[in-house]
Amino acid sequence: MKLSIVVPCYNEEEVLPETSRRLIELLDDLVARGKVGDDSHVVFVDDGSRDKTWSMIEDLSRQQRRIRGLKLSRNRGHQNALLCGLMNAEGDALISADADLQDDLGAIEQMVDAYANGSHVVYGVRKRRDTDTFFKRFTAEGYYWLLAKFKVQVVFNHADYRLLSRRAIEALREFGEVNIFLRGIVPQLGFPSSIVYYDRAERFAGESKYPLRKMLSFAWQGITSFSSVPLRFITTMGVTISMGSFGLALWALFVRLFTEEAVPGWASVTVPIYLLGGIQLLCIGILGEYLAKIYMETKRRPAFFLEKRAGFGDSETR
Ligand code: UDP
Ligand code: MG
Repeated sequence: MKLSIVVPCYNEEEVLPETSRRLIELLDDLVARGKVGDDSHVVFVDDGSRDKTWSMIEDLSRQQRRIRGLKLSRNRGHQNALLCGLMNAEGDALISADADLQDDLGAIEQMVDAYANGSHVVYGVRKRRDTDTFFKRFTAEGYYWLLAKFKVQVVFNHADYRLLSRRAIEALREFGEVNIFLRGIVPQLGFPSSIVYYDRAERFAGESKYPLRKMLSFAWQGITSFSSVPLRFITTMGVTISMGSFGLALWALFVRLFTEEAVPGWASVTVPIYLLGGIQLLCIGILGEYLAKIYMETKRRPAFFLEKRAGFGDSETR
C-alpha cells in the first residue's frame, strides 16, 4: 500500500526541517515493518508562503526521495492548500497533517492499521485540550456545539488530521464546491470509517497561522456552506410575528368598533402596520426557503456514492 502524507505549509520555514526529518523517519520505520509500501512519501503543499518555505521544499525534494512538493500560486488558505494536496497526491491512502507537528505522529500507524482493517476514512480525534489556552478551548468546543445546533454533521474534536482511502478521495473529488469545509464534507462521504485518538502537543516552532480573524471567518464558512438553518429562522420568525400581528390587528379593530376609547385615525394606522410587518417577514421567509433550495442545488453535491456491487460479475475494487 502506497501512503501519501499531505502537509499544507504557510510560512513554515522554522518547522520544516524537523517536520520532514520526523516524517521520513516515521515512513522509513513503517516501510521497514512492512506496514506501507516503499513508494510511500510526503507531499508538502506550499500555500503561497512569503518566506523560504518553497525553496526549502525544493531542496528537500532533491535530497530526499520521500519528499515531494506542490506550490500554490498564492495564499489560498489551509483548506484549499489541503484540498490541492489531496487531489494531487497519488497514494492508495492519504493522510493529512499540519506542518507544525502538533498532531501526534504516532497516530499515523494506528490510522494505517485501521485502513488495513477496511476503513476508508479514519478520523484523528483529540483526547484532551489541555495544551490549548482557555480561550481557544472554549471557542472551539462552543463551535462544535453550535455546528450541531445548525445541523452540520461533524466529528466532535476532529480537525483535519485524518486518513482517506483512494475511494474516499475519488468521492471527495466529485464535490465541486468553492467554499470548501472538509470537516463537514468528509462525514458526508460515508464508507466504513473509524476513529483514532491522539494527544495534541503545542506548536513545535513558529506561531499559529490562524489568527482570530481567520478563525472566525472559517467558523462562519463552516456554518453557511452547510446549513440553511439561518434562512429557515426568518420563516419561523415571519410566521410567529404574522400570527401575533394578526391578533393585534383584531384587537385594534375590536377597540375601534366596540369601545369609545379609540382615538380617531388610530385603528386605520396601526392595523396596516401590524399586518404589513407580519406579511413582509413571512414573504422574506418564503424567499429564503427557495433561496435555500437554490443554494443547495448550485452546490451540485453528488447524490450518492456506490460502495459495493454484488452479482454483477466484476471484481470488487477497494
Ligand atoms: N496553513 C496554510 N495556509 C494558511 C494558514 C495555515 O496552509 O493560510 C497551514 C499551516 O502551515 C499549518 C496548518 O495549516 O500546517 C495549520 O495551521 P496552524 O498550525 O497555524 O493552525 P493552528 O494549529 O494554530 O490552528
Ligand atoms: Mg498548529
